[in-house]
Amino acid sequence: MRLVDVGGRLVELHIRRSKRVNGHRLYVRQGLPPELVVRPRASESYIDDAIAMHRSWLERQLANVTEPCLGLERLHLTEAQGRREAHARILLIAQSEAAALGVTFTRLTLRDQRSRWGSCSSKGALSFNWRLVLAPHDVLDYVVVHEVCHLAEHHHGHAFWQLVERRRPKYLESKRWLDEHGWELLAYRPPLEVAA
Ligand SMILES: [Zn+2]
Repeated sequence: MRLVDVGGRLVELHIRRSKRVNGHRLYVRQGLPPELVVRPRASESYIDDAIAMHRSWLERQLANVTEPCLGLERLHLTEAQGRREAHARILLIAQSEAAALGVTFTRLTLRDQRSRWGSCSSKGALSFNWRLVLAPHDVLDYVVVHEVCHLAEHHHGHAFWQLVERRRPKYLESKRWLDEHGWELLAYRPPLEVAA
C-alpha cells in the first residue's frame, strides 16, 4: 500500500507484484482501492514513475467512480419493503415476458447477492437481487427480460443477445447503467426494521 497524492487528495494505492504483466497495469474498481500491478522485481523508482505517469488518469477515474451519485442514502426503504416491491414488479414483468416468448419458469425468488443481479437455472427457476428495486425501472426491466430470455436461450451466444435486443431494443443503456452504478445498489444499507 502506498499513499499517493491525487489532485490534492491522499489515496491508498495497492501495489501488487505479478509475473503476468508486461511493465505495469493500473486498475480502478468500484469499492476497492486502486491497484497498480508491476513485475515481481520492479524497483521503487519504477513504481514512482508509473504512478507519476498515470496521476491525471487516476484523478479522472477516481472522480468518476468513487463518489456515489444516486442519493440512495436518503432513501429509507427497509429490506422487507424493498423485497416486497421488487417481487411484485419483477413477477409482473417476468410473467408477461414469459408469455410473450412462450416459455415458462418454475419459481421466482429474491436474493441479496453481492455479485449478481439475476440468474436462471437449467430447471427454469429465476432469481433476482432485491436491490434492483433501487434502480430506474428500465434497468430492473432489462434484468428481468435478460433472465426470461435465458429460458429460451441458455447461453450468452449471438442468438441470446439477438433475442434480448428484439424484446428491449435499448437494453444496452440499462446494461451500461448497471456497470456504472450497480455498486451503489450493492452499497445501500437499508435501515433496520423496527419491531412493532
Ligand atoms: Zn445472462
